Order: sequence, then C-alpha cells, then structure tokens
Amino acid sequence: MSVKDNLLKIKRTLPPQVTLIAVSKTKSKNLVVEAYNAGQRDFGENYVQELTEKHEHLPQDIKWHFIGHLQSNKVKYIAPFVYMIHGVDSFKLLKEINKEGKKNNLVINCLLQLFIAKEETKFGLSFEEAEAILQGEELKQLQNISIKGFMAMASNTDDENQIREEFRSVKKFAAKYPALNVLSYGMSSDLKIAVEEGSTMVRVGSSIFGERDYTK
Ligand SMILES: *Cc1c(COP(=O)(O)O)cnc(C)c1O
Repeated sequence: MSVKDNLLKIKRTLPPQVTLIAVSKTKSKNLVVEAYNAGQRDFGENYVQELTEKHEHLPQDIKWHFIGHLQSNKVKYIAPFVYMIHGVDSFKLLKEINKEGKKNNLVINCLLQLFIAKEETKFGLSFEEAEAILQGEELKQLQNISIKGFMAMASNTDDENQIREEFRSVKKFAAKYPALNVLSYGMSSDLKIAVEEGSTMVRVGSSIFGERDYTK
C-alpha cells in the first residue's frame, strides 16, 4: 500500500471533526511530499532539528505540529513557523514559548500534555498541575500563547480497557474547560479507541508511513 492509500483508508474511519496529523518523524521528505500530494496538510514531528530542516525544504502551507518533548532552549528554533506545540508540560516552557511568540509577533497555539499512562517514561502534567497552570494568575500575563486543549499518550499496553479509561480521564478533565476543546490523543495502535473516547486530533505515524527504522 502507498502512503496515499494508507492516508485515505485512515481518513475514511475518522469522523469529520477529527484532524489527522501525519507523524513523519524519521521519514524522508519524499514521503512527506507523497502525503502532501494526497492532500495531507497537518504533519507532526518530535525532533527540533528534523522539524526545522523539513520546514525549510517542504511546502510552506504545511501545518507543523511539534509533538515531542520540547526543551526550553530549543523553542526559538521552531517558534517562527510552528502551528501547534502539543507537549507543553511546565509553566516554565509556556513562558519560554510566550517569549519567543512575542519576539516573532505571533500567538503560538499550545496543548498541555497530561500524564495519564502507568509508565514512568512518559512526560506530562498531573491533572492537579494542569489545573494550577490554568487557574494561575500568571497565565493571564502570557499574551503570545493560546492554550487550545490537551495532549496525552496512553500506556503502551494490550489492555484496551485501560487505554480507554486513560483517554476517558482526559476527556472528563477537559470538560471543566469548554474553551479548551482540542483533544490530541490516539496513535496508530490506539486510534480507534481514541476516536471513540472523544479525540479531536489523532497523531498517526507508522500506519501511514510504515514502521520506523531507528538503526539507520
Ligand atoms: C511517534 C509518535 C506518534 C505516532 O506513533 P505511531 O505509533 O507511529 O502512530 C504519536 N505521538 C507521539 C507523541 C509520537 O512521538
């Protein structure tokens, strides 16, 4: 199956309100172009250098989503062009994004990353921490960021009920903040459950581009 076939097949399963982000990390620019030519415009990357490189050489109307763990000192490289930063996991990072947004005269879209998995390896805020940020007075000072919603990653497990419960906990938490209505969860392995549990943005890599090879 081609990238185009994969894309169309996935799109057919998605309700219209769900945005498909094609996660192109580690994949060649040629493959991104293939997806682009099939109509895809939202792409996700999680390494700063790879993202800036691809942005420079690929069509300028691509919406680039940064979905990885972002270090404060690297915000400046992506701030001028990034469409949305999904993995915001501290107020410090939010302040840094705001600072770079200001420099570029932009308001940068952000999602707060919530930690819902039962694994230590994943990043993110607890619900309490996210609440503290959202209700804090300091947030009002940040005029160059716009928090649109939440991002999360479920546990890497075969237990569908657990995955479902984890997504559901995000949806439930987000319901307290109706204006923050972007919910970014669901990847190749748990796409269907994520959509059933209210995701509005799914981040799909290997089902579109094939398995990633990190040994190259
Ligand atoms: C790599 C990645 C994805 C896509 O994963 P697939 O299993 O290839 O669909 C989604 N979200 C994040 C944060 C990622 O790093």
